[in-house]
Amino acid sequence: MSEKKSVGTARTLLVDWLRNEASVHLNSRVKYFSERMVIRYNQVVIKDTRSRWGSCSGKGNINFNWRIIMAPEEVIDYIVIHELAHITNMDHSKSFWNVVKNYCAEYKNHQMWLRVNGEKLFFV
Ligand SMILES: [Zn+2]
Repeated sequence: MSEKKSVGTARTLLVDWLRNEASVHLNSRVKYFSERMVIRYNQVVIKDTRSRWGSCSGKGNINFNWRIIMAPEEVIDYIVIHELAHITNMDHSKSFWNVVKNYCAEYKNHQMWLRVNGEKLFFV
């Protein structure tokens, strides 16, 4: 196998593995927080996006960038809580942030972590 080809294969294996880890972990965290927050969602979708960590659709689907699986546990939970809160508050209003704060008191630290380190999650 040429060097270029084996690097390509290694990346594919790594990304496939991370995407699968992301799917298992995020499905379980969304389920956990949706019960605590009493918010209903439809399904979790793992995506490959360049710019966003997560988003939610009007149909209650929650999309995540698989790269967040490489972030610290508490940062992942913050992103989960943020997207779940969007199901009932589609904006970033004060009441939205109150919901987030209720379940994630340290959310400002996690936002800072993403601002400082987020770029590094794009190494692969
Ligand atoms: Zn948001």
